[in-house]
Amino acid sequence: MRYAENITDLVGNTPLVRLNRVTDGIRATVLAKIEYFNPGGSAKDRIARNIVDAAERDGLLRPGGTIVEPTSGNTGVGLALVALQRGYRMIFVVPDKFAGEKVDVLRAYGAEVVMTDTSVEPDDPRSYYSVSDRLAREIPGAFKPNQFANQNGPRGHFETTGPEIWRDTEGLVTHFVAGIGTGGTITGTGRYLRELSQGAVRIIGADPEGSIYSGGPIHGYAVEGVGEDFWPETFDPTVVDEYHRVSDAESFAMTRRLAREEGLLVGGSSGMAVVAALRTARDLPADAVVVVLLPDHGRAYVSKIFNDAWMTDRGFATTDTTPDAAAPAS
Ligand code: PMP
Repeated sequence: MRYAENITDLVGNTPLVRLNRVTDGIRATVLAKIEYFNPGGSAKDRIARNIVDAAERDGLLRPGGTIVEPTSGNTGVGLALVALQRGYRMIFVVPDKFAGEKVDVLRAYGAEVVMTDTSVEPDDPRSYYSVSDRLAREIPGAFKPNQFANQNGPRGHFETTGPEIWRDTEGLVTHFVAGIGTGGTITGTGRYLRELSQGAVRIIGADPEGSIYSGGPIHGYAVEGVGEDFWPETFDPTVVDEYHRVSDAESFAMTRRLAREEGLLVGGSSGMAVVAALRTARDLPADAVVVVLLPDHGRAYVSKIFNDAWMTDRGFATTDTTPDAAAPAS
């Protein structure tokens, strides 16, 4: 019989698929690594498993312990999967602006969710940061993964994502493209690929316009999970050879094209990474192999990026998904 012992054994070993249509005119091979094949639906399952494994090894998390983390998104789902399978209590602290389906998903996995006031400053005792710190301090046996500082996050990618890409491309990968949130993905994967290729693989960061990483003015943007306004400890900028700055409009248009043209229903940060990958691949020869990592599934965004009214209200074009709208009715 062939089966996994439990759900967390299914984390990783996600497939590569060639992009065939959005790559029109490009000679290089562009391969997408589809992280929604992870059991929690995102690349964050990898760091969740690695962070919990390390915390158990280091004695920071013991049977009956509690995991407390400020997160409303993919990291929460990843941690919830690992926690429930190993019997830990889990508490996620969420700013109230994220109320809704993402929080319902965390509760569906049996997590407790503590809502905090989005409008207060970070050092206010009611803030998302303060509340999670206080709970981690006060609850006996509590462990706070701290995804923006915990080096076991990038290490998880060094030990799994990097080796998988090297193995599946038989060492032929020439470029690796990823977005940067905590920086765990690009730092861990980039380090591994650079080491194994003796510096030959180029590491390309995709960054939303408005984020700190790629330089230029810092301002708000709509793509979720990537970009920052501070430098997290989990990101090693020396790993990145080059950045591409991508606008929300470009990211969302590509996200919608990926669904319609490639059958890949993915999130906005995936669209952003593909824009950067195609810019990278544009002038490359036919033997180049560009691997782009697509972090999560598109289902969480159906009421946003894939919703025409939401897009139009924010000034984003929707014409990409209605190419025949102008055609005469037949
Ligand atoms: N895309 C999405 C949707 C994410 O949730 C994240 C994680 N914040 C990223 C991209 C970036 O990954 P990393 O934190 O490893 O840089």
